[in-house]
Amino acid sequence: MKNSWKEECGVFGIWNHPEAAKLTYLGLYAMQHRGQESAGIVSLDTQTAGQPIHRIHKSLGLVADAFSEATLAKLTGSVAIGHVRYSTTGDNSVVNAQPLTSELLTGPLAVAHNGNIVNSSTLRTALQRDGAIFQATSDTEILLHLLAKHPSNDLVSALTEVLKNLVGAYSFVILARDRLVALRDPLGFRPLVLGQMKSGSGLCYVVASETCALDLIGAQLVREIEPGEIVEISSEGIKSSRFSDGTQSTRKSANCVFEHVYFSRPDSVVFGKSVYDSRKKFGVKLAEESPIDADIVIPVPDSGVPAAIGYSQKSGIPFEFGIIRNHYIGRTFIQPAQSVRDVGVKIKLNPQTEILKDKRVVVIDDSLVRGTTSQKIIALIRQAGAKEVHLRIASPPTTGPCYYGVDTPQKSELIASEHSLEDIRKHIGADTLAYLSEDGMWKALNSGPERFCAACFNGEYPTSLKGVETKKTTDQKDKSQAKQI
Ligand code: AMP
Repeated sequence: MKNSWKEECGVFGIWNHPEAAKLTYLGLYAMQHRGQESAGIVSLDTQTAGQPIHRIHKSLGLVADAFSEATLAKLTGSVAIGHVRYSTTGDNSVVNAQPLTSELLTGPLAVAHNGNIVNSSTLRTALQRDGAIFQATSDTEILLHLLAKHPSNDLVSALTEVLKNLVGAYSFVILARDRLVALRDPLGFRPLVLGQMKSGSGLCYVVASETCALDLIGAQLVREIEPGEIVEISSEGIKSSRFSDGTQSTRKSANCVFEHVYFSRPDSVVFGKSVYDSRKKFGVKLAEESPIDADIVIPVPDSGVPAAIGYSQKSGIPFEFGIIRNHYIGRTFIQPAQSVRDVGVKIKLNPQTEILKDKRVVVIDDSLVRGTTSQKIIALIRQAGAKEVHLRIASPPTTGPCYYGVDTPQKSELIASEHSLEDIRKHIGADTLAYLSEDGMWKALNSGPERFCAACFNGEYPTSLKGVETKKTTDQKDKSQAKQI
């Protein structure tokens, strides 16, 4: 499915709080970085037995724009789930916005999904042959169809069976009439945590993609949902079961390393590790592996900041904000009719001449994907009078596309998959260029490829890729363009 390829999402769920929808709104607000194209909340009142459908509001755009005080007020009930979504390919329509809802024989269900199901095309075709009618193009709907066909009246028993058909990355939050279910795929590609807080005289449970969402609403982190685990929250409390015992794979987990490199917020604890700490350690390792004589270390804001602090502390070269970021740019801005040089990049990032002039500058960014951002930034730093510009990337060369839910372009657009370090250096216009080694990344994480998925860096995909669209035609076209650097 073309448009299920590039999805980065955040999911949230809350059980037993009088302001469930408002807290979901806040949770999504904290996770806005995980998806900016649509937002949705479904709420439910567990007391009102026989309610046919959840209360729902979904809209394109940012969380703050998608919900008003009035829409939130209509989402009554003590239980809610929410979703933020980002898809870069074509179909950014509200039908693909989540949570998805449907009326099954067993009752209403709402589903929010983060990740990407690798064999979705195959499953979808089989379901369609069998008469299923799909409303949307996202891979998430497949789960609803598989559940609808399953004979069991018990949601968890049905899930335990049908999830065995899915290959890939999925953290699901599911709202049924009388329970909230949170689960992660057998390898735990995407994060999902369980939290709790007091609510009246009882306990309120929360699930979220990232701990920063728990922080905002004042919930305490209890633990991660384990890979292959289903956590069921109901009026009877919490029940945990497993739909996968991990024996299907030689590895126990495939946590996405890119969550630590770029995707998660630095104030989150992801896969049991502080993201800020990981990024800072990537910078320390980078300074050990690729030192350079220079006057200042500057980050590409905001993604390069923790690594630049690490690089600066290890190397002893002073840290400066040489580029200032405008945090208030929207999706679109009005371009002047007359071409004004670099307006595109300058609207977001403005280099400070007073800091950069006549300096030997080390620039730190978290990753280099296509190379276009770095090329523009280096040109701006030179225009501001820097004497030398040394680019240091706090992750290894990105050489493989992600099929598990991070929006990386196809292989031919990944500059490091087709070009040597020296070619890339020339293309982006740096005096020197160095990446963090894969080994350095593992040392910084105090872990290794047996625990994390690093397919974007090492090409080792932890699942079968059967059913993944090869995008051959576009790929070949792009290849010829990529060669022209
Ligand atoms: P480029 O090399 O021009 O493709 O862009 C690299 C920049 O994009 C880096 O500064 C990263 O912070 C950022 N980046 C890396 N991965 C992603 C992603 N999946 N989505 C959006 N931005 C990203």
